[in-house]
Amino acid sequence: MTSARDRLAFESTQTLQRLADLTRDFDAMVAASRDTNADDEHDPEGATIAFERSQVEALVRQAQRHLEEIDAAIKRLDAGTYGTCAVCGNPIAQERLEARPAAAICIACAASGHR
Ligand SMILES: [Zn+2]
Repeated sequence: MTSARDRLAFESTQTLQRLADLTRDFDAMVAASRDTNADDEHDPEGATIAFERSQVEALVRQAQRHLEEIDAAIKRLDAGTYGTCAVCGNPIAQERLEARPAAAICIACAASGHR
């Protein structure tokens, strides 16, 4: 069985990799749109690129937020509060922590709309 710290380290590595991939996609997209008719705002292809860019931006933000969650979880490990729900104070189910090592709240609180 792997420890929470191992799972968090693994998740962090994966997320950083995803972020690197997204950043590369994003840079390629920016370069591509600069090469083509970037000065033509009414070009339908330009609109598609803008849309794809905003999609990638959303994914980048998501990955960054996830990294922050992982960092926060590691701090909770250090502080000895890891696995305790940040909302209600009850223990977070082990299965949930294995599926989502960065989870800060229990299933019941997540289900009632907290995050
Ligand atoms: Zn809770």
